[in-house]
Formats: sequence, C-alpha cells, structure tokens
Amino acid sequence: MGPVIGIDLGTAYSCVGIFKNGRVEIIPNEYGNRITPSFVAWTDEERLVGEAAKNQAHLNPERSVYVVKRLIGRGFEDKQVQRDMKWLPYAIVNKNGKPYVKAKVEWGEEKKLSPEEISAMILIKMKEIAENYLGTEVKYAVITVPAYFNDQQRQATKDAGLISGLEVLRIINEATAAAIAYGMDKKQGEKNIIVIDLGGGTIDVSLLTIDNDVFEVVATSGDTHLGGEDFDQRLTEHFVKIFKKKSGKDIKDDPRSMQKLKSEVEKAKRDLSSIHKTKITIENLIDGVDFSEIITRARFEELCNDLFKKIFQPVQQVLDDSGMKKIDIDDVVLVGGSTRIPKVQQLIKDFFDGKEPNRGINPDEAIAYGAAIQGGILGDQTSEETKDILIIDVTPLTLGIETVGGVMTKITPRGTVLPAKKSQTFTTYQDQQTTVTISVFEGERAQVKDNYLLGKFDLTGIRPAARGVPQIEVTFEIDENSILSVTAKDINTTNQVSIIVKNENGRLSKEEIEDIIRENEKIALLDKKIYQIRNAKDSFEDYFNFVRNQLDEKVGKIIQTDDKYKLKDALLKAFEFLHYHPNSRDEDFAKLESDLRSVCDPIIAKANKQQHMGTSQCYCYDDIVDL
Ligand code: ADP
Ligand code: MG
Repeated sequence: MGPVIGIDLGTAYSCVGIFKNGRVEIIPNEYGNRITPSFVAWTDEERLVGEAAKNQAHLNPERSVYVVKRLIGRGFEDKQVQRDMKWLPYAIVNKNGKPYVKAKVEWGEEKKLSPEEISAMILIKMKEIAENYLGTEVKYAVITVPAYFNDQQRQATKDAGLISGLEVLRIINEATAAAIAYGMDKKQGEKNIIVIDLGGGTIDVSLLTIDNDVFEVVATSGDTHLGGEDFDQRLTEHFVKIFKKKSGKDIKDDPRSMQKLKSEVEKAKRDLSSIHKTKITIENLIDGVDFSEIITRARFEELCNDLFKKIFQPVQQVLDDSGMKKIDIDDVVLVGGSTRIPKVQQLIKDFFDGKEPNRGINPDEAIAYGAAIQGGILGDQTSEETKDILIIDVTPLTLGIETVGGVMTKITPRGTVLPAKKSQTFTTYQDQQTTVTISVFEGERAQVKDNYLLGKFDLTGIRPAARGVPQIEVTFEIDENSILSVTAKDINTTNQVSIIVKNENGRLSKEEIEDIIRENEKIALLDKKIYQIRNAKDSFEDYFNFVRNQLDEKVGKIIQTDDKYKLKDALLKAFEFLHYHPNSRDEDFAKLESDLRSVCDPIIAKANKQQHMGTSQCYCYDDIVDL
C-alpha cells in the first residue's frame, strides 16, 4: 500500500517518522531539524509553513498563525478558546459557532480559515518532508492526539488529514504512542505507567495500564498553560530587565524587539539543557543598540523553579483519580521537548522516590516514533519486525445516552477495546409515545448535565403503544480512531426505523471539506503559475546575461560597431523594462526575450562565424555599456 508515516501534530512543533527496514527513522526537514514548528504564515507572495513561518513571525504577527491545536474541534464559545483569543496575536472570529482564523493570506486576500484547514497546511508540510526524504509519494498516515481529545477534536484532526490529501489510517493517543516507542508493549504482565508530556504550551499527564498489548488510559490530567513558552517568558522578562538597566531602554512594548529576544531566548534555553552557561547576542535589539548577556543553567532553574514545581499537580491528580500510589507505577515515560531540561528530569526522579525515568529516545521525537511503529504495522502486516506487535487502543471516556431523570446510562464504559460495537434496548416513558430523543454524552459522571453532549437526534414513527412496550435498540459503534456512530432502531414495528448519527455537530461538512480541497488545488495551480513567471523571467535573465557576456568576451571584439550599438540598445531597452516591471507576467518576459533574441542572435551568430574563420578584425572595447 506504500509508505505509512507517523505524525506527531504538536501544538508548538510537529515531527514525522517512518518505519523502514526494521527501524524507525525520524525525518529531518529542509533545515536538517527533526522537529518542525507548527507555524503557518503569509507574505504577499506566498504561504510559509514551519521554520520559514516562525522566522518571520516577528515581522508580521497578525499574519503568523500558531497553536491552532488549541482551537481544533472546539466551539467558539469554549472557555479555552475565549481565553486563548485574549493573547493570540492573530484574529479569531466566530463562524457557524466555530473559531476561525481571520488573516490576510497570499496576494493580500483576507480569508477566514478553519483550524482544520490550517492544521492541514502543517500536515502537508510534514507529508512533503517525508516525500522529499523517501523519494516517493506518501498517501497514508497515523496521526496522534492528546488522550483528553474528545470525539469532535479527533474528528476534526481526521478531517485536517483529509484536507491535506492524506488518508488517516488511525488516530492514536500521544501517550499510547510514547509508550509504544519505549517498548512498553513488549513487556510481560500488566503494567502501570505514567506518561508526562511537557511540551511547548501544555503539560499532559496520562496514567496507562498495559496488559497483553491493550493500552488503557486510566486517568489523564494536565495544565493547558504550562510548558516551554512559560519558561521562555520568564527568561525573556529577566533579559528585558537587564537590558533596561544596561541601556536605559525598555523594549517591553516593542513587539519586534520582543520577538527577536524571545527567539534567541528559546535557543539559549535549549543550550542550557546540555551546557552550564551560554550567551545570547542580539545585534540592534532596538534603536541600533546591541545586546549581549551570559546566562547560567543555575540562574535559569532559579527563575523557573515555581513553574517546574507545578508539574506535580497533574501528576498527583492522575494518581489520585486512578487510586494508585507512586509505588504502583512501573515506569515513568518523559515526553515533550521541555522534559529535556535536566532540572525537570531531576525533580521528576525525586518525586518518584529515585525511580529513573525511561531514556533512550529523544523526548521530542517519542510520539512520532510510536506513531511510525503503528504506521509500520498498518502498512505491512506481514513484516518480520512488526508482525508480533499488536497494538490495541481503548476508549478514553465512557459513552452513553441520557435516560429519565437526566441519568447517564453507559453504553460503552471507559476502557472499551477498539473497535467496538455495543447495543442496549430501551423503551418509552409515556403511553402513546411516538418519538424518542437520543442524546449522546461522553464522561464519567452519573448525571448527564456534568458530562459532555456529543450529539442528539430523534427516532420518530414509533407505533403508539402503552409505555414500556416499544423496544428501541441503541447501538454504539466506535472505530479504531475512537470515532463514534450511533444507531437507534425500533425493533417492534415492521417498518423499522434506523438512524445512524455521527457527531456532525461542529464538524466541517463533507461539502465544506470538498470546497477546501478544491480551493487548495486552485492555490496549487496559482503557485505553479508564479513558478512559471519566475521561469520565464529566469529564462529572460539568462539570455540577457548571455548577451552581456558575449559583448564582454572575444565575440564583442569581433562585432562591428553599428551591430554593437544595436545590441547595446536592445539590452538597455530590456534592462529598463526589467527595472520598471519586475513583476511582469510570464507572457511579457517571453515577449521580451524573443524581441531581444531577434536582434541579438543574428549578430552573435555572425560574430561567431567570423571568429571561426579566424578573422583578425578587432574593434575597440570601451563602448560596451556596463549595465
Ligand atoms: P509540543 O507542545 O508541540 O508537543 P514539543 O514537545 O516539541 O512541543 O516541545 C516544544 C518545547 O520544548 C519548546 O518550548 C522548546 O523550546 C522546548 N525544547 C525543545 N528542546 C529543548 C531542550 N533541549 N531543552 C529545553 N527545552 C527544549
Ligand atoms: Mg507534543
């Protein structure tokens, strides 16, 4: 079926891997980096994704979009979205109840883009990184999502895959992927493991039990505002103060200088994970004033100490929720770029009474690593290396329907092995009732009002009867990606009514997705068009330079004076055109080149011929224009 890549679609960074020749390879991007910023930005000419987008973020904050993972699959009114809107530099607007990003895209056009579309742009980038490396087209992928992602967030991530042109074979939990990467699936017996994922903006902690290759997420917790960004922020504030003291200048309210400083600070912070002292140097931080300052690891740790300690709130939470003690934990797996910080590793080790966390795989690559293994399994079921590995995911949360009194009636309990299909029979509450409403909820609480509503639909046309007589069979079917469909069927009537609901609520419709794909194709065509313009321009410029060189070289000495003036004139004319119309259409450049050729080709050919004949004619050289 061709290669299946594993993608960790991260909030701050994304990473792609492939299982090849019996091992996982993490694929570097065009800069040689193994993780790629989850950034999309636009200039007037083009769309940038990854490093290029992040690098220009300080020039164009309102056209640089990042952390869309915080928005995907959520409603506009969602508390988290409302909170994030306050600090994100780009505009978020309400479209059909969903948060859309409003930005000026290439060619200055203003557009509203769904989080799915923007995530798709990042997925396209990751796909291209893999394709460049493998030298073949990539059509299939396994994508990871946080364990706490609900059905909508998973669906939306899958839709992003669809828009990007990838067939998403499986959506798996990031914590599961990390556990697979560390070979937890190969251990004998039941194990309890804690995965601590401290990334760019968030910390996600999951407690998993693994038994005979069945991964169950027993508890998850986290802090949606604790991660590398916060450490960067602390360090940045520190340097702003020092700079103010040294130069008397406050850069706090200058977004460009702040962004410049931030990106240097992030590099310094990373350095401090391997060396004890580093220096940041920025030329012209503001008003032509340079900045240079040394920072030690110890000082960094001191500045972030209280933040590091916050890691243990969610860790303690998952222990409490699952009723386990530290001693019950067999393995601690560290994931996310920020767990590379030595102090963080030390504190975690101390918390688990000296237990060494798992090492060996780069924490910022572990999730893509596990996703790639899963991709390898799905891509080649017969491979020697993967045939013994079987990975089973389970539902992270209980799914059920509302029954009388607002009670949450469980259909698939948390931890149901996927794929799953479960049915239960219900009946009517009142005499002569012809319609029942099926409200589908997700969550662990006894009352539906405390759980999360996934969707609602009516089953109508029930034959009137005394209450308790009709039999309505409700079936939940959950596929390997944790995506749910619900069917309600009146089994007493001959005219059985069967309705299948998917949770369409808040999802992009099929038409919307098709529209986006069509639009993307149009953009791809336009991109090509730009490329063609460049080609026509390149071709013209090549020819222009060729003629100029001919004038400079031996041929120039052979060409007769009046011909030389003709050449000179034609070149000047073309040069002027180029100077005043740098962004002409390809037709213009093609015409320019053919005009130039019609004048120059015969003259140059004549001169070459004379040269071959060994003529000794020689003309003065000094009237050649220096263009
Ligand atoms: P995501 O949140 O997208 O999953 P990652 O897990 O890739 O992000 O983590 C990104 C964060 O990790 C960034 O804040 C980055 O600065 C930080 N980071 C990456 N490498 C290091 C390192 N060597 N030392 C400290 N922090 C690091
Ligand atoms: Mg991550």
